[in-house]
Amino acid sequence: MIQNVRGTRDLLPDQTKGWQFLEQLFASVAERFGYAEIRTPIFELTEVFTRTIGENTDVVSKEMYTFTDRGDNSITLRPEMTAGAVRAAVQHNLTATGQLQRLWYIGAQFRYERPQAGRYRQFYQCGAECYNTPYPEADAEMIMFAATVLEECGIKDYTLKINTLGSQECRQQYITALTEYLEQKKEELSEDSRVRLTKNPLRILDSKDRGDIAILKEAPILADFLSEESKIHFDKVLKLLEKNGFSYYIETKLVRGLDYYSHTVFEFASNAIGSQDALGGGGRYNTMFEYFGGKSTPSVGFSLGMDRMILVLQQLRPEIFNQTIVDCYIVALDRSVGEFVQRLAMGMRKEGKRVITDLQYRSLKAQMREANKIGAKTVIVIGEEEMKTGTYKVKNMEDGTELIIE
Ligand code: AMP
Repeated sequence: MIQNVRGTRDLLPDQTKGWQFLEQLFASVAERFGYAEIRTPIFELTEVFTRTIGENTDVVSKEMYTFTDRGDNSITLRPEMTAGAVRAAVQHNLTATGQLQRLWYIGAQFRYERPQAGRYRQFYQCGAECYNTPYPEADAEMIMFAATVLEECGIKDYTLKINTLGSQECRQQYITALTEYLEQKKEELSEDSRVRLTKNPLRILDSKDRGDIAILKEAPILADFLSEESKIHFDKVLKLLEKNGFSYYIETKLVRGLDYYSHTVFEFASNAIGSQDALGGGGRYNTMFEYFGGKSTPSVGFSLGMDRMILVLQQLRPEIFNQTIVDCYIVALDRSVGEFVQRLAMGMRKEGKRVITDLQYRSLKAQMREANKIGAKTVIVIGEEEMKTGTYKVKNMEDGTELIIE
């Protein structure tokens, strides 16, 4: 038997209601924050990602689905949404006259990672980007938007971790100091971290290796390298969150895996879903537009992992996964009334009712059993008599009352 590719999943009917719920909820929150939807292609020229995410990040160096197409172009299935959206914004002049743009998206992403619960090779993200504002108010808006989505899903016990990387300059100075320090301890570092030391030293801060963690205790910290301006920006973001009743936790080692961030970075985690506990994250990126030939356009964005939110929703709100709402089940006693039943159903559907008929012409008992099982609100039974007279009864399944329609 041919099966699906490792790391991909078929989302079957017992799950898709939950996905629809999440998609609609996200779109509804986005609308309330004034964001408009953007849909970009699932694949882009590879350089869209390598240039922005960074050659030495895990995503670019190990996880991309890259291939050469028949026209000899290097193509990559998108591993995230931000770079493609910025490419589109520059191409279509969405911010060319200096205007603010608020965009949201939902879509499949692809990363060649080791599959496990909550980690897949095709996964889904919903997120948003706010272009063309350097102000901390935009960082706060993004975080509050993402947090509102989690809260409206019923996920109340998330943790919001936040940090600042400072400006590109602060960050560069810090990387130099961190590298100098770690170079002295090189022999004691884990093998992974030794590789990162030359390629992407900031990522060493993420290391889960005990030896690395011990070494990092004495390492220079980013906070000491922040310029006054960077500090003021970050403090303002924190204050805005507090004023709006959002609690956070400053995680000084949070750097996030991608190169393009500066200033605020944040992540949401849940303790309800095991080791893959990151629900989403984001941050400010002030220099990405230039990669695509655009003007300097300070921006901020986030994305939430929908697969993981679904895992949480399955525990918190199992009821949203099985709502087949049927207003009326029309039972046909015999195939000879099938045509009449279908016409009756069509008329009711045009009036906005959700109506089901049996297309297998099973027994009355079997049809009634199904009507009960799916929770049909009303049932109509049509036989020869009802067809001839055009008079039939609508039975209310909740209270057993009957209404005669003539
Ligand atoms: P990132 O920008 O890489 O932090 O991704 C944002 C969010 O997407 C993460 O917090 C996860 O919830 C989700 N995510 C990232 N990679 C995967 C994956 N391979 N499978 C499922 N969800 C993922």
